[in-house]
Amino acid sequence: MNNFHFSLKTEIFAGRGSVRRQYRAWLLGHRALIVTGRQSAKLSGALEDVCAVLEANHIPYVIYDGISENPDVTQVYGGVAVALANQSDFVIAIGGGSPMDAAKSIAWATASMVAQEDFFDRKPTPRDAVLPIVAIPTTCGTGSEVTPYSIITHHRLMTKVNISSPRFFPSVALLDARYLESMPKHVLCDTALDALSHAIEGAYSPRANRLSLAISEEALEILIPELIRLAHGAFVNLSQLQYASLLAGIVIAQAGTGLVHAMGYPLTCHKGIPHGRANGILLAGYMDYMSESCEQLTERLFNAANLQGPDELQALIDLLLETLHCSREAPTEEELLRFSHDPLRLEMVQRYRTMPSTENVMDIYRTGF
Ligand code: NAP
Ligand code: FE
Repeated sequence: MNNFHFSLKTEIFAGRGSVRRQYRAWLLGHRALIVTGRQSAKLSGALEDVCAVLEANHIPYVIYDGISENPDVTQVYGGVAVALANQSDFVIAIGGGSPMDAAKSIAWATASMVAQEDFFDRKPTPRDAVLPIVAIPTTCGTGSEVTPYSIITHHRLMTKVNISSPRFFPSVALLDARYLESMPKHVLCDTALDALSHAIEGAYSPRANRLSLAISEEALEILIPELIRLAHGAFVNLSQLQYASLLAGIVIAQAGTGLVHAMGYPLTCHKGIPHGRANGILLAGYMDYMSESCEQLTERLFNAANLQGPDELQALIDLLLETLHCSREAPTEEELLRFSHDPLRLEMVQRYRTMPSTENVMDIYRTGF
């Protein structure tokens, strides 16, 4: 067996009613801070379940619902202020990747007294205190419920920064597919594409290992048939999508993301294209590019996906975006050229065994649009 390291510090409970049934496992303190977006926690029904458990167990809580898509430092520190004012000693994140990621930074900044002006410069150390985190996903894409990453938008640099620490792994993840039912169709599509990109990028990462690769394949086997059904307007199995998103999250927790995420950030920050959609647009061009240096692995991934190759993947993604009315306004050639430099500066890309060139990046952008 090859040497490898695999770490997953999160206890996972999956299944209908898991929030109420498994309450003993996730009451991790005496005063809870609930971190969420404007509506998803309420619409999904997760907030009602969480509050019912907290009230039945006489645990005071406060709700901070100030997290929007692509959360920034101001939103994080809004949560820190609420946590400090209420002496919260554990954090419950309900929502998609945005509230879950923000909750991790709030848990760190609160417990380790990180000053707002130091937020991006002071990297979390393994010894930094972080309030215990419970994660309850209401989308099926980021896998943030099982990753040590908190992705926060840096407005001045017009990019997203990955703040990460092993202590950011949520202590408990509670998965109930009923919470996905209220998702608008375009969010379902965008987030499933994010999960797809995690399974694929994680597989190509130099940090991938035998076990993470097997999990990538399992995620692809589940995701692609669901995406095909979604693209044809047929019934999709939300519980399968939630499971695949979890698997893909476990993959990136080990292996990290790569060029697709790095290239997607400018599309989100400059053009407002949602995170998962930005990744999905770039995936087929990326696999085509990677097939030059990783032929066998690419074949293995397409086998798991039961797709012929990049053209069939691109056709599936095109159909998906069209069926679900997910627009993709093409950036101009000048914009793409501007976007093409930043991804190559990111550590997640500099790890590649063969560094992509600006021309490779441009080709992948052009294929997607
Ligand atoms: P999101 O930004 O959390 O949510 C997108 C939209 O969907 C929001 O308007 C949200 O509403 C709504 N929504 C979510 N669940 C819903 C539900 N069940 N019913 C109705 N509306 C719902 O989307 P996301 O794609 O899950 O997260 C994207 C973020 O995660 C990005 O910032 C990305 O960079 C990050 N990310 C993190 C990791 C990681 O490992 N940590 C990995 C990949 C991506 P509300 O505003 O009401 O919540
Ligand atoms: Fe992602």
